[in-house]
Amino acid sequence: MAITNVDVFQVEWPDKGGQGTDGRSAWLRIRDDSGHEGLGEATPMLGGLASATIIRHHFAKMLIDADPLDAAVLQERMFHHAVKIGPDGALAGALAAIDIALWDLKGKILNRPVYKLLGGAWRTTLPHYASIGGIRPRSVDEVLRLVEKRLEHQPALIKIRADAYRTERDADLAGDLAKAKAVRKLVGDEFPLAFDANNSYSVGASIRMGRELEQLGYRWFEEPVQHYHVQAMGEVARRLDIAVSAGEQTYTLQGLADLIAAGVRIIQPDIVKMGGFTGLLQAQALAHAHGCDVIPHMTQPSIGNTANLHFVASQLHGWAPCELDDPSDRQLRLFTKIPRRTNGLYHLDDSPGLGLELDDHALAPLRREIPA
Ligand code: CA
Repeated sequence: MAITNVDVFQVEWPDKGGQGTDGRSAWLRIRDDSGHEGLGEATPMLGGLASATIIRHHFAKMLIDADPLDAAVLQERMFHHAVKIGPDGALAGALAAIDIALWDLKGKILNRPVYKLLGGAWRTTLPHYASIGGIRPRSVDEVLRLVEKRLEHQPALIKIRADAYRTERDADLAGDLAKAKAVRKLVGDEFPLAFDANNSYSVGASIRMGRELEQLGYRWFEEPVQHYHVQAMGEVARRLDIAVSAGEQTYTLQGLADLIAAGVRIIQPDIVKMGGFTGLLQAQALAHAHGCDVIPHMTQPSIGNTANLHFVASQLHGWAPCELDDPSDRQLRLFTKIPRRTNGLYHLDDSPGLGLELDDHALAPLRREIPA
């Protein structure tokens, strides 16, 4: 069994109105000599071009003729080959895409869904949570309208964000608190909520806001301070009762270990950013050893989301719903087969691999080549 073809490319998305374009994703197809194909996806940051370029120029040739079942060995080999341009960021995203594609391929070869290869599923019906907000100022009313719109999709939890850019700090604490209170009032006392500060608070403001969120019954408080201030993140976590989560910008197991040692009790690695299935399995073991939860980060609604569903299905304590950032169907139209949401729930079946089938005809006009 040998890999014969590594095809990495970008996909350019039409905007939600269908008139212009809005961002790119970096996708990967790996084929073997038995005719099977695995699909992967890299971090979408800056269109995923940096990760895709690393794969095209450096890793593709390391994969040709390799055994597709050697995913973990191949990942370590490629990681150490290129470690000086990492270990974080674009390098990690490239490795993640390859690992996801190799697990998909392994599932196709063995004719089993990925969740079976991960050790089995605790659940194959998975609720989602609506991830709302962004990096521009919004009024309380605007946030409430967004929440109302997302409630139509029947999420099991809603996460709102502080609407500040990460170069700002404590920009509108009163406004953020007003939004947290208004959303709680809108959805009622029992509906699960989470709050994401998008790294925009000081330690003091984080603690004050965290105490308010505790009173409002929010489930977790995400990334209150800058992600690179690991000790400060841990200080906030230790001083609050509400669970502080972090790790969506942590791309190594060692980085996650540092967050846990600092006091963070929910880690949020992202399967398209950190090691794919191989990386998230290691993260899960690390978290389990320390009594921490894993609530994976995920913004990509097709390949990345499907990989995340298989991972969460296999988690012992996967109590949190799966993140859904983009509820539009613009990516889903490129697949003839993909797990879809019905009544807010994703259903995984027993299709081999990730259970995805790309529609080449629909993909062709959106495909963008990686420069040689
Ligand atoms: Ca976040």
